[in-house]
Amino acid sequence: MAEDYYRVSLADSELPTQWYNIIPDLPSPPPPPLHPGTLEPAGPDDLAPLFPMELIMQEVTGESYVDIPGGVLDVLRLWRPSPLFRARRLEKALDTPAKIFYKYEGVSPAGSHKPNTAVPQAYYNHQEGVSRLTTETGAGQWGSALAFACAQYNMACEVWQVAASYRQKPYRKTMMEIWGAKVHSSPSDVTDYGRKLRAENPDHDGSLGIAISEAVAVAGADPNTRYALGSVLNHVLLHQTIIGEEALKQLALVGETPDVLVGCTGGGSNFGGLSFPFLREKLAGRMNPTVRCVEPAACPTLTKGEYRYDFGDTAQMTPLLKMHTLGHSFIPDPIHAGGLRYHGMSPLVSHIYDLGLVEAVSISQSECFAAGLQFARTEGIVPAPEPTHAIAAAVREALACKESGESKVILTAMCGHGHLDLAAYESYLSGAMVDLDLSEEALAAALSQVPTLATV
Ligand SMILES: *Cc1c(COP(=O)(O)O)cnc(C)c1O
Repeated sequence: MAEDYYRVSLADSELPTQWYNIIPDLPSPPPPPLHPGTLEPAGPDDLAPLFPMELIMQEVTGESYVDIPGGVLDVLRLWRPSPLFRARRLEKALDTPAKIFYKYEGVSPAGSHKPNTAVPQAYYNHQEGVSRLTTETGAGQWGSALAFACAQYNMACEVWQVAASYRQKPYRKTMMEIWGAKVHSSPSDVTDYGRKLRAENPDHDGSLGIAISEAVAVAGADPNTRYALGSVLNHVLLHQTIIGEEALKQLALVGETPDVLVGCTGGGSNFGGLSFPFLREKLAGRMNPTVRCVEPAACPTLTKGEYRYDFGDTAQMTPLLKMHTLGHSFIPDPIHAGGLRYHGMSPLVSHIYDLGLVEAVSISQSECFAAGLQFARTEGIVPAPEPTHAIAAAVREALACKESGESKVILTAMCGHGHLDLAAYESYLSGAMVDLDLSEEALAAALSQVPTLATV
């Protein structure tokens, strides 16, 4: 590789053929999900109405590696392996001795990392004869990824899009419709729960928790319909590890190992996808990167939430998950990083954070957009609002290197482009953007809603 490389590419033949499961490598497994009625660990039968058996098995597998089916690889090949970039122009603008790398997932059809799991989820459902998938979407990224994936296997797709984002991002809806999906603004008048909320407040902003409740209710009522979740669960993080496996090979090609790895965390999937293969190397003593989650100050799940069992959705229909949570009824302010507006966290990322294997930091949205703008003006790519959090953390780290004179290697999860998030940039550029950081009072009120489970 030439000394002055900007982009590190892998040959098509280097596409990983297995996903990596970090659980067997951890000192202890994450606590299991609990059935909300019995408070016993939820078994495969409890999850069967919502998910295909193959995904349920992946959720609990003890194997370190899971083969990626050929029918999935054929679709992933449309955009994978994805490029790793060295952000030399950003480094220069920051006048830092640090080396900044970013693994770019915006090259997928939907423009984010989400198709990495949407495709296998649609594939396994299709294999088991399911004809329709339902889901929620916040920023619209997951809904468009699943719409694209369902189109690949000729399946119907129905999406509940959080009302605030439905209003802010009309083109995401069009994109989902282009791929054949049906899109509802959530709360919708399709479900009992949605109708109840709309009666109370016709201008409801919605939330991911509410949209999940609606999509789950519709899937649970029809045997040919199942539900797909774009983040949080073990099998989703498993599918995303293809990102980190590629990045490991790409950094090896240029003879680098990361000192710091940063990724934004909404439900934890792009962060887990990039970081878990590196954590495997760290746990085996082969490298020692600091690994850091970055979350919005408006929804600081890891840094301010409590680590306890809570519902994944607002209507309390899902199993109880042990995770860092702000409370299932918490509705974050409508910040522009819609994909990071979730009250909970992946139980696996929460567990790894609890074990002290990763760090977390929260950053306000104006600092993130400032970093995103600097990134766009130097590197050219307009980042989605979510990864501007990772970029802001990388910028902080690079500026610390400028102070200390260290030339650390920083690896950043650049999980999507922002071409359909221009209203957010417009708000920033016009000076209208305000920071909506969570206040102590709002935090206390949100946490008081978490169920108290004396038995767990
Ligand atoms: C969905 C999404 C996120 C948040 O989800 P994670 O599971 O935490 O990755 C972040 N960035 C983008 C671009 C997304 O689409």
